[in-house]
Amino acid sequence: MTSIPGPTAEEQVAFLGKIERLLSEGQFVATYKYALLLAIADLAVKLGSDDGGELDLPIRAIAEEFIELYWRQGVPYGNAVADTGYNTLKQTTGRQAAIFSVVETLRQQHGTLTRAKQSPMWATAVKETARLVTDMPLWRLQRLRSEVLDFLYAESPTAGNIRLKGGVASNLRRFHAIIVRLTQSEWMHFIQALPGNSQLLGPTSDLGQFLFGADRSVLLRMSGPLADAQKGECLYCRRRVDSGEIDHFVPWSRYPRDLAHNLVLAHKECNRHKSDLLAAEAHLDQWLQRNQAQGDAISEAARGANIIVDLAGTVNVAGWAYAHGASLHAATWVRGDDVEPLSGRWQSLLAVARG
Ligand SMILES: [Zn+2]
Repeated sequence: MTSIPGPTAEEQVAFLGKIERLLSEGQFVATYKYALLLAIADLAVKLGSDDGGELDLPIRAIAEEFIELYWRQGVPYGNAVADTGYNTLKQTTGRQAAIFSVVETLRQQHGTLTRAKQSPMWATAVKETARLVTDMPLWRLQRLRSEVLDFLYAESPTAGNIRLKGGVASNLRRFHAIIVRLTQSEWMHFIQALPGNSQLLGPTSDLGQFLFGADRSVLLRMSGPLADAQKGECLYCRRRVDSGEIDHFVPWSRYPRDLAHNLVLAHKECNRHKSDLLAAEAHLDQWLQRNQAQGDAISEAARGANIIVDLAGTVNVAGWAYAHGASLHAATWVRGDDVEPLSGRWQSLLAVARG
């Protein structure tokens, strides 16, 4: 193979931006897409090179990585009682992920992964998993809410392989640690957020929330003052809110600090749809106007609730978040499942707010 120059600095930055978009704008109903991304990143390290070439990855190899990833996760969680029927963590919003029946059969027959790999059943299990990978996450990983971002590989596999595009393996190798940590963290949050897991995780074992999450009880004290500041309306759809939620206008996933003026009152549904996306520029306008008119009242309430008050700093955070979003060509949330790209209006809106 002749050596092709590796990705340029600009291409490397663009690549990381796209990985970030896969994780924040993709729709996740199961953890398979996280597993696929981890499997591809690991295989690029194992099989790829640092030049700008393409790389063929056998789907069977991806399937083996899959089984290894889920092997550990299929064991009962924590001190769960075995006969409750809910002793493994759920990994989908629907029925338990099909990969677990493959893993469970291997485990029952062979006990350990090493023994399973040496058994004649291994080939069958890999074949079955390869089919699952092809049917489910392979064509979904690169689909965002608003577009297909097929920068990793062409969507249809050929002859049992996927072909990583030129420079992809090199980038996966270079940024392996970042991509793995980001993906693992998203995976953990997905599992923690599934209602079916709350009983198993228990009230105190929400480790990610405990270590890094927002303090919901503190935020709750802001719901009255925010309702007053927004005249009882959801910031996003402008309809009346009776039992709403406190949302972080600049998403928590992008800036995990509670800043008083970043908090907004919204419908549960609006909040859920917005998820980790930046709000569209029309919402940015609303938010800035609210802070302009009601900033002092929000500050006063927040001081009583021990929440950081720093309006200028909060506007700077929004400026950073929108500039970053613009550089990634990120989709912003309008309503429901509707998203739109940034027009650039955010720059003048924020410039006015900064005075
Ligand atoms: Zn709403």
